[in-house]
Amino acid sequence: MIRLQKAQEPAVLTSNAETWKQEYLGAIAAGKKRSEIPARYRHATVKSAIAVEAFGKCIYCESKISHALFGDIEHIVPVSIDPSLVVDWTNLGYVCQLCNNHKRDYWDVNLPIINPFGEDPKDHLRFYGPWVTHKAASDRGQITVRVLGLNRTYLLERRKERLDRLTPLVDQVFSMPEGPAKAAMMKFLMEEASASAEYAATVSSYLEHQLVDVPVADETTAIRELDGSVQAPLQRSAESAPGPEISANTSNTDAE
Ligand SMILES: [Zn+2]
Repeated sequence: MIRLQKAQEPAVLTSNAETWKQEYLGAIAAGKKRSEIPARYRHATVKSAIAVEAFGKCIYCESKISHALFGDIEHIVPVSIDPSLVVDWTNLGYVCQLCNNHKRDYWDVNLPIINPFGEDPKDHLRFYGPWVTHKAASDRGQITVRVLGLNRTYLLERRKERLDRLTPLVDQVFSMPEGPAKAAMMKFLMEEASASAEYAATVSSYLEHQLVDVPVADETTAIRELDGSVQAPLQRSAESAPGPEISANTSNTDAE
C-alpha cells in the first residue's frame, strides 16, 4: 500500500452526485435492497477515473487489476454505515475483488483501516521482503493487515516473484563500471519502485536496503537522469539513510 492522490472528480459525477445520492437514499428509505438500486457510482467515466488515479492497481494490496484479477469500486466508508456517501468522490477507490471480499463492511470509527488517499501507509506499515507488518504499537496498521489479508498466500507469492526478478539486477549494478549503462540500470531499478509499479511499497523498501551500499559516485552519473519521483530512493541510498518517498495519483470496484 502506498500513499495516493485523489484525481479530479469527473464532471459527470459533479453534475449528478446530488441527484444520484437522493435517489439512493430514497430507495433505501422505501425499503429497497442495495441490489435493487442502480449503482450510479459504476458509471464508466467514474470507474475509469478511479482506475487511472490508482495506476490500475488495487489501492490496498497494489495488485495490478486485470482480466485474471477483477477490479471493483470500493466505498472506503461502507454505504451500510453512511449511505449518504454512496457517490461521494472522496469515498470511492479502486480495489481488487479479494481485498473487497476481505474488507466487506468492516468499519470502526475508532480503528479504521488505513486510507491511502488521506494518510501515508508508511506511518503504520513496514515492508520486509514479501511480508507486510504493522509498525510497533500501530493498532491501525495491525487491523489493516488483518482485515485486508495483506499477507495472504497469493500476495506473498507475487511479491516474492517481484523481488526475485530484481535480485540479479541489483547484484549486477554493484559490479558495473561507472557510466551510462550503470546509470540506466539504476534508473530502471528506481522505476521498478515508482508508484505505478506493482507492489511498489515492497519493491521500494527492498531497494532502499539493497542499494544502500552502491558507490556514491553513482549519484553523479545516475541521479541527474532521474525524475523527481524516483530520485529519493537513490539519494537516500547513497546517504545510507531511510527509504523512498513514493506518492501517486490514484484508484476501482464496489468493496465494502
Ligand atoms: Zn487488493
